[in-house]
Amino acid sequence: RPDVLTFGETMVALRGSGPLKLGGTMQVSIAGAESNVAIGLARLGHDVRWAGAVGEDEAGELVLRTLRAEGIGVSGAATDPGAPTGLLLFEPRLPEVTRVHYYRAGSAGSRLTAGVVERAFAAAPPRVLHLTGITPALSPTAHSAARHALQLAKDHGSLVCLDVNFRARLWTAEQAAGILREWIPYVDVLIASDDELPLCLPEGAVGAGSPGEAGPPDEAGSPGGSHGIDEAQGAEEAEGVEGAHGAEGAQGAERTPQGAAHGAAATLASQAELLLDLGVGEVVVKLGADGATAFTHGGSLHRPAKAVRAVDAVGAGDAFVAGYLSALLDDEEPAGCLERAVTTGAFAVASHGDWEGAPTRSELGMLGAPPGTVVR
Ligand code: ATP
Repeated sequence: RPDVLTFGETMVALRGSGPLKLGGTMQVSIAGAESNVAIGLARLGHDVRWAGAVGEDEAGELVLRTLRAEGIGVSGAATDPGAPTGLLLFEPRLPEVTRVHYYRAGSAGSRLTAGVVERAFAAAPPRVLHLTGITPALSPTAHSAARHALQLAKDHGSLVCLDVNFRARLWTAEQAAGILREWIPYVDVLIASDDELPLCLPEGAVGAGSPGEAGPPDEAGSPGGSHGIDEAQGAEEAEGVEGAHGAEGAQGAERTPQGAAHGAAATLASQAELLLDLGVGEVVVKLGADGATAFTHGGSLHRPAKAVRAVDAVGAGDAFVAGYLSALLDDEEPAGCLERAVTTGAFAVASHGDWEGAPTRSELGMLGAPPGTVVR
């Protein structure tokens, strides 16, 4: 059995060094939440398969070649001759603000079908199926693919990990909640930001523990607001702005203002408890620069973030998931899973790019090294 199967849309990513309209050079790479997780896991030595769709074009070749080079099995990936591989442009506009422009409407990745998932399971059912809440937002066929994967995972006894990854520019909170709630009974490990948990709760249970305080995010306060930088549809005219994240510590400070911290923690705990009652085995909440908390039937456990110089917050969540699943596959207890997750998350914020800085297993211990350390 492969360790992990994941699928979703992966695009070509171009990174400029200043305002896009001035031209200049761009760096060429790839980006996609699920493939970021796949790369993080493969670097840590796991057997990972990725099953998405790319266009029959050189951009698609770049996606597949990069994933292959990282040691990920892509034999289950589909090539769609009828649509191009999606594209996104990163435009660093200020040290703390990056604009993202998407060109993905009708892309091959968004036309992913259930057949791809079917073939991947037929070839080798994985120990873990990893999904994100981005895929069902891409198109009806991508939604069916993800839904079908949940059933196949159940049939084959694969553990299901879901990272909510709400993208406000792909769909509304109501649309997301409608689907995610239905998925919860299939989910073993739920990973979410604190403001994404309400999207998974049964209708009417939102705000549990603190009535009126926690509801599905609205337009202004959507969870995608500060970090909806990864994915969007309708691309051509869409612009994403990465803010808060870039500034060291800013996000954590925003999320738990001193006075409200206690109430927020209580709300989080009761929301997690509801999800555990619905059959989720582990509810893992990412808290940016504040670290992460895991809730299980055995209780809750918090790990602060590792102190690093943050240079690029993009991909922190995906790196975190890779670390968590890696330790889970190694049969670690939740404490060990959280520890590896905050470590891989810290590597991501301390490195440029979505996945480029993901550590190998032997590099995990580098994080606490004092400034000026030279590894010979
Ligand atoms: P993204 O959407 O950018 O991938 P996310 O919102 O899904 O991010 P975060 O909560 O921002 O995920 O980050 C995931 C994990 O990465 C955190 O739980 C934490 O362990 C680590 N992390 C994030 N920011 C920092 C930071 N400034 N310093 C150290 N570790 C961090």
